[in-house]
Amino acid sequence: MCISWRLIPIDKRSPALHQAEFGCLKRAYAINVTRGCSFYCIYCYARGYAIAPSKGTVYLYQNLPLLLQKEARRLPMGTPIIFNTASECFQNHPHILEITYRSMAILLRRGHHINFLTKGVVPKWFKDLFCRYHHHIQATIDVVSLKENYCNLFEPGAPIGKKRLEGAIRLLNWGIPVKARLDPLIPFFSDTQENIENLLLAIKDCGIRKIIISYLELRPRIIEQLRQELPASIAKLILGCFPKPSWDRVGSKTLCKQVPLSIRKKVYQRIRQQGEKLGIKVVVCRCKNPDVSFSQYCLSKSGLPKYKRLSQPVLL
Ligand code: SF4
Repeated sequence: MCISWRLIPIDKRSPALHQAEFGCLKRAYAINVTRGCSFYCIYCYARGYAIAPSKGTVYLYQNLPLLLQKEARRLPMGTPIIFNTASECFQNHPHILEITYRSMAILLRRGHHINFLTKGVVPKWFKDLFCRYHHHIQATIDVVSLKENYCNLFEPGAPIGKKRLEGAIRLLNWGIPVKARLDPLIPFFSDTQENIENLLLAIKDCGIRKIIISYLELRPRIIEQLRQELPASIAKLILGCFPKPSWDRVGSKTLCKQVPLSIRKKVYQRIRQQGEKLGIKVVVCRCKNPDVSFSQYCLSKSGLPKYKRLSQPVLL
């Protein structure tokens, strides 16, 4: 679906890299190429941040390569750097992709490891860089349904699921390890047996052998987005799956509501069995499901190297 938005290049005043604060990302530094994101996922928590631009505007940090030239030097070689904790570096805009490419090239050439979660598609012209440094790159493709109307409803600015999986095949062909993330599973829409079956078959056909799963978490701002941007009957149906009146703190400082534990456990077990039949390892995200006994941290044993943590990257 086409959503109109404009890109405004700005200079980032604070450091490009910041130490991640949440769950298994705590071991890494994080970077965002833009403030705001043109994919406009209905469930996006970053859209509720105080610094998020209004809908229709995305700010591009045009000076990121300049900042990284200095900051990357201060980190021990092999530092894991996570892209996209609050945005998307593969939004389909030439200027965003150019800054993404230059930023990644600086980090990889300095010997760091990059890890990105994306709903976008990595362009073909990243091939030489990615093939050369494939041992230093880990990719996770976020996809929860292959139905076009699902994407149009919940992720209206993002490429449809089929395109994301085509992008995953390209990365695998370049020698990059690729996982899939099925998150957020939305009750009645993407957690159904049929949807998961079709998706897992397509994931298997791509050559992906590991997935991470988690249900939708509600935050106050996400509830507003669901009410404002979905048809009323659909918003009501989804919100009805979060019956607990109180708010919980799950992993981070943020208050949220979850689908009842009994339902999460039942569906996660079913997906694990479906994956097992196809030879796909299914990991339940522990950061978002600490109350599920069989959940696991997905980054801690993924091959990201250990490194000596600096208190903060220091600008020269
Ligand atoms: S792709 Fe990520 S950052 Fe962009 S709107 Fe969707 S959830 Fe938010």
